Amino acid sequence: MNQNAANQEMTSFESGDTWVIKIGSSLLTNGGQGLAIDAMALWVEQIVKLRHAGVKTVLVSSGAVAEGMNRLNMKKRPHSLALLQAAAAVGQMGLVQAYESLFQKFDIHTAQVLLTHADLRSRERYINARGTLKNLLDLGVIPVVNENDTVVTDEIQFGDNDTLAALVSNLIGANTLLLLTDQKGLYDSDPRKSNEAALVRQRRANDPDLVGMAGEGGEWGRGGMVTKIKAGRIAARGGANTVIAHGLQEDVISLLHKGEVMGTLLMADKAVLASRKQWLAGLAAQGRIYLDAGAVTVLREKGRSLLPIGVKRVDGRFTRGEIVACLDESGMEVARGLINYDHEESAAICGRSSVDIQSILGYAGEEELIHRDNLVIV
Ligand code: GLU
Repeated sequence: MNQNAANQEMTSFESGDTWVIKIGSSLLTNGGQGLAIDAMALWVEQIVKLRHAGVKTVLVSSGAVAEGMNRLNMKKRPHSLALLQAAAAVGQMGLVQAYESLFQKFDIHTAQVLLTHADLRSRERYINARGTLKNLLDLGVIPVVNENDTVVTDEIQFGDNDTLAALVSNLIGANTLLLLTDQKGLYDSDPRKSNEAALVRQRRANDPDLVGMAGEGGEWGRGGMVTKIKAGRIAARGGANTVIAHGLQEDVISLLHKGEVMGTLLMADKAVLASRKQWLAGLAAQGRIYLDAGAVTVLREKGRSLLPIGVKRVDGRFTRGEIVACLDESGMEVARGLINYDHEESAAICGRSSVDIQSILGYAGEEELIHRDNLVIV
């Protein structure tokens, strides 16, 4: 791939629509009688249409515990976390098998991605996971994400993958997080208890009144509206709008993509995005890299990622995923961000085209030294 092609590929990821669609356990389980394959086939069909419309889509699917319970003939959700984890490990096989064969009908590959919250808190793992997902999307693959329930219990206990989906949304810089559930959206009071309950159409994700409106989760999954509202807030930090909608509403994904108003929209606002950048700017820099004048202009005026070719010199010791300050030729700080290579690797590839990274380092890492999502102008 030449530099131009590499840039184009990056641009296509950065500028296109990217959606994270999360499907909850209650929708996937057929009331505890195995996976709801017919419904899954309809979602898959709509996701394929989305992809053909140019939207990159990551699917976050729960349902592993529920499918595992079904396969293991467990009539009631076990209380023991270790048993729930065992059920998830069994059920995950059925889940990925089902998605793989449903997408295969459209000649689309799926990829199993098992993540934990801790993976996304660690800067190095964050960058690794981001790189993998970016490449999967560029390859036209649909990543199917679930929590790695064998090693952690966050979503089994609290979230039914709502939080994980929001973290994934920030990870890949998605602009839409769609949470499909067995409710039409968020109601201003519990619709099971009151006929007066009205659907909330649109709110700011950070509206403090939202949590007061949310009820509890169902029997098959954990995620009530509370975790969905929290997920909306997390996604808003990365600039994504969240939609909570009924997964069995006909053509729900396609209609939302066409702009139809349904479910509850939790909107991100720019001030929150700015605060994430402030957080990044406030971290102590572990090293310094000196940019040429062209790179300074590209960063300041175009908001692009920093490529190794724009770097003249590397100073200090740092590892992959640490914060470095980006200085202009006079030593003035221009930006800071999370770097994709350690100080030795950075020194080796600076001033060179990204296509040469593999021959210099002996492996192909990211094309950019600092991705623009991990970069803040100071
Ligand atoms: N990751 C879990 C699953 O896929 C979360 C849902 C649950 O706890 O039921 O099954």
